[in-house]
Amino acid sequence: MSANSKKPSKSNTNDRVFHGKCVDISHEGKGVVKDGKDVYFVAGVFPGEEGEFEFSYARAGAKFAKTVRLETVSKDRVQPRCKICSACGGCAFQQLSYPAQLEYKRKKVQEQFRKIAKMDVEPLPCLGMEDPYFYRNKIQMPFGKDNRGNLYCGFYKEGTHVIVPVDTCFIEDQRAKKILDAIKRLGKSFHIEPYMEDEGRGFLRHVLIRTSKHKPEVMVALVTYKDAFPSRSNFVKALVRECPEITTVIQNVNSRKTNVILGSFERTLYGPGYIEDLLCGICFRISSKSFYQVNPVMTEVLYQKAIEAAKLTGEETVFDAYSGIGTIGMVASKHCKDVIAVEIVPEAVADARRSAKANGVNNVSFYCDDASSFMVRMAEKKQHVDVVFLDPPRKGSDQRCLDAICKLNPLRIVYVSCDPSTLARDCAYLNKKYRLESLQPVDMFPHTMHVETVAMLTLRELKK
Ligand code: SAH
Repeated sequence: MSANSKKPSKSNTNDRVFHGKCVDISHEGKGVVKDGKDVYFVAGVFPGEEGEFEFSYARAGAKFAKTVRLETVSKDRVQPRCKICSACGGCAFQQLSYPAQLEYKRKKVQEQFRKIAKMDVEPLPCLGMEDPYFYRNKIQMPFGKDNRGNLYCGFYKEGTHVIVPVDTCFIEDQRAKKILDAIKRLGKSFHIEPYMEDEGRGFLRHVLIRTSKHKPEVMVALVTYKDAFPSRSNFVKALVRECPEITTVIQNVNSRKTNVILGSFERTLYGPGYIEDLLCGICFRISSKSFYQVNPVMTEVLYQKAIEAAKLTGEETVFDAYSGIGTIGMVASKHCKDVIAVEIVPEAVADARRSAKANGVNNVSFYCDDASSFMVRMAEKKQHVDVVFLDPPRKGSDQRCLDAICKLNPLRIVYVSCDPSTLARDCAYLNKKYRLESLQPVDMFPHTMHVETVAMLTLRELKK
């Protein structure tokens, strides 16, 4: 319910409705609303806002509520472009002005360091986008069917598997909308059934679209429950005829009962099976299973900050841990002697090797392995490393990896993180040996509560 919803009539003003004030924003991007000693989490409410709220449900000891009516409105509140941003839950902050979003993210990084690492640090101002809309290059949507047989797609309502249909998403590359509309229309005429999770039947689970920022290339991956795809080639022909901007189509088969979108088996139905994009002057190959940052504009800003933090002179041996398709390592390779890169997903390593070859980069070695095991072995062999880039998934790195880095004794660690809480935890673990020099938040995910951070750490004692 939005801020200007009607005042509730007396009859529904019962004990579920309460008066409260928002005092903070939670880790999940919800307003922390207090009513005396009671604390509730409310989406789309910002600090300083007061009004009437209605209790919705409790989960794992936390109480959630929705706004009935706001009496005091934050000066940072703005009209969101997206009409369904409250229902969809993807954009917790579309109703917050962009400068306020950036400041919130900076504070979030600071708070996580205070709470988790017990470190009092002052992150730099969060770097934002000039135009923070339509930035996402990766779009993945589940499909459903209404009672007139029309296909629709959208996002899962937060904490559920109920699809909120989305017509225009204001953070996604606009090329995706036309393709999704064509799939809905063609899907109906080709009698394609959406996958029904509860019943374990149907066909189309998700559509994944990846767009290239700097090349006219678009990948469509149709994630299907079963391998058998009736009228497969006619469907693909019709789709590409309607959307000639599509340069490759993949069928990915996922028959498991899982929240993970992609299955392991896939076949290319059209085009080369991958797209390419340019990043920091290098052309990267990206296949469906490889990780690639979702905001190509801010990725360049992020990498520039990461390279700056590494203070490379051209002489260093650099280690790129969690290297994906080799982006950080290859960008760094222009500024150092050589790079060792490790990534666990074989398809990403294959992409990295091909890109290096195609770009004439020959001072980077790519290994497909678990970063921790690989680094432990390197430390045992007493290999020499000057700078380590760490860019792990949200769960952060682990102690085996961090211990191995300490043994390798690099002069600098540049930690690129998409979760300030695990970043804080890992920096605290390294703190005895590595001093945290700077924290640079970068807004990779405008309008959402997520933030990316570059942390620069230097060895406290040069000898050892
Ligand atoms: N540095 C890259 C990728 C960062 S995302 C970029 O900026 O694009 C994190 C990457 O870590 C993913 O590619 C993921 O597949 C990989 N990964 C996850 N667990 C890993 C592990 N245990 N060892 C090595 N790589 C891992």
